[in-house]
Amino acid sequence: MLVADCPCGSGDRYDACCGRLHRREAEAATAEELMRSRYAAYAVGQLEHVFRTWHPRTRPASIEPDPALTWTGLTVLVTAAGGVDDEVGEVEFEARWDRGGTPGALHERSRFERRRGRWVYVDGDMP
Ligand SMILES: [Zn+2]
Repeated sequence: MLVADCPCGSGDRYDACCGRLHRREAEAATAEELMRSRYAAYAVGQLEHVFRTWHPRTRPASIEPDPALTWTGLTVLVTAAGGVDDEVGEVEFEARWDRGGTPGALHERSRFERRRGRWVYVDGDMP
C-alpha cells in the first residue's frame, strides 16, 4: 500500500499512523484515534479493519467496497469523553468524498465504547 501521508489528516505518515492499527500492530488508545483509523481504512480500502472495529451488535453482515467513491479528507469537529480512562466516547466529524467529480461530505456524530478493553464503533447520527 503506497500511501505517504495518512488519509486521516494527522500529518503523520500512514505507516506510522493508522497503518499500525490496520496491521494490528497497535490498538487505538482513544475513541478519536479509532475514528480516524476507521476513516483512513475506508480511504485505503482496509475494510477488514472497519468490520473488526464495529460493535458486533450493530455492524452489518459485510462491508462492501464502493469503487466509485474517493475519500478526500477528514475534519474532527468535536470529541466528548473517549479518552484513555473512559468507557464511552463520541466523535463528531466531517468526512469529505468525491464521486466521479461530484464532491460531498458525511457529517456524523459517532458513538464508541470499549469492548474487552478495545474501542469499537457503536453507531452514529447526523447532528
Ligand atoms: Zn492516521
